[in-house]
Amino acid sequence: MAEETKTAEDAERKKEEFSEWYNEVIEKSGLTDKRYPVKGMNIWRPYGWGVMSRIDDLIREEMRRTRHQEVRFPLLIPDEEFEKEADHIKGFGDEVFWVTKAGDKELDIPLLLRPTSETAMYPVFDLWLRSHADLPLKIYQMVNVFRYETKQTRAFMRMREIYFFEAHTCHSTGEKAEEQIREDLRIMEKFAEELALPYLELKRTDWDKFPGADYTVGVDALMPTGRLLQIAGIHQYKSNFSEAFDITFEDEDGNHKNVHQTTYGMSERLVGAVVGVHGDDKGLVLPPAIAPEQVRIIPIVYGDEEKIMEYCEEIERELREDGYRVEIDERDERPGSKFYDSEMKGIPIRLDIGSDEVEDEVVTVVRRDTGEKEQVSVDELKGHIGKTFESMKEDMYRRAEEHLQSNIVDVESLDEITEEKVYRLGWCGKEDCGEEIEEITGRKLLGTRYGGEEFSGECVHCGDKTDKAAYLCNAH
Ligand code: ZN
Repeated sequence: MAEETKTAEDAERKKEEFSEWYNEVIEKSGLTDKRYPVKGMNIWRPYGWGVMSRIDDLIREEMRRTRHQEVRFPLLIPDEEFEKEADHIKGFGDEVFWVTKAGDKELDIPLLLRPTSETAMYPVFDLWLRSHADLPLKIYQMVNVFRYETKQTRAFMRMREIYFFEAHTCHSTGEKAEEQIREDLRIMEKFAEELALPYLELKRTDWDKFPGADYTVGVDALMPTGRLLQIAGIHQYKSNFSEAFDITFEDEDGNHKNVHQTTYGMSERLVGAVVGVHGDDKGLVLPPAIAPEQVRIIPIVYGDEEKIMEYCEEIERELREDGYRVEIDERDERPGSKFYDSEMKGIPIRLDIGSDEVEDEVVTVVRRDTGEKEQVSVDELKGHIGKTFESMKEDMYRRAEEHLQSNIVDVESLDEITEEKVYRLGWCGKEDCGEEIEEITGRKLLGTRYGGEEFSGECVHCGDKTDKAAYLCNAH
């Protein structure tokens, strides 16, 4: 009961004072430094980059498993390539940073900083692809992209320089490209388990899809504010780009055909989502898979210092041998301030070791997400930590999933839309109706479930019968 009340209070504070809470946590925990003198461009501090790198490791693992290859394309894109796909330039045009000069000299061809890499990659794809034997082409890169964000910026969530993951694929047929979208969604599922991030996968409305795409599936996580944050985008291009960039291959019968393409994008927003979804009033709570430091040992040195330190070092060595990321906090600080630091950084497990523990050959294990404390014998420690990580991941996912589900509210009239929730409503699917729903409520129609869902009702605006349920929410 006590724990539930505390959790409810935390949730309330995170909702009411989200910005303040979020900004405090990301700086105090050492994820980022926001003092860089360019708006929307922050510094990754070692701890923050450590978290991002662990996320990258998980992505690379999934990419290897699904036979994508890593590449690195140049940052600058010539204007003439960028102009080739009309919807794409319309969608990104206002957000582009330009490089027009070298020293005092105007460049012959203006160059732009990639806002995404379609137009950098696709001219080369046609050179790489000769025949059907070269397909599928599945590549990805992790690079910085630049978008001139005009809204208020927020660390990890809305930036002008964004650390970005983008996978690009080419296929011989539309069906194979569709299969790729399904594979991307399975990758997302596995990956979200490790980050303990439940989400909605919503097929975006036509007016909100990626510029140049045939359709977009947005992957949205629910933040404590009751607003959704898009954490991934999966896009079906069909042959929209391959026609503009003339990317063709020769099929078995010697015919030249355009390839079908897809992309999959994610970014540093994943860090923002993890902070928002799992953090509490003590700071970050990191899922074990992405914690740069999974276990922190805190020596409580009253008594025989040498013996306590030896004991700590022995435990550190043994856990490291098993592949855990472990550190001893040896700073000359009081235990209280060491506990505070470990909690603020969201280190999944803390081991408190004083002379009592040494004497009894035990360790006091403190779990970050629940605060539970227990004594475990040294012999059982390794197994205990492994099991605790497993249940942390599952419990964190479950709690976030309950929060998501309890915030989805069915409504039959727009008058019922008053709170910061995710509203599910009947929608006829017509664009003008959808746009009016957005205008009346001031919220975004984020789309319908990819793969569909059972629904039967009336459009909340025009009253037409429909089997489509759409999701309406404010977005971060
Ligand atoms: Zn309607």
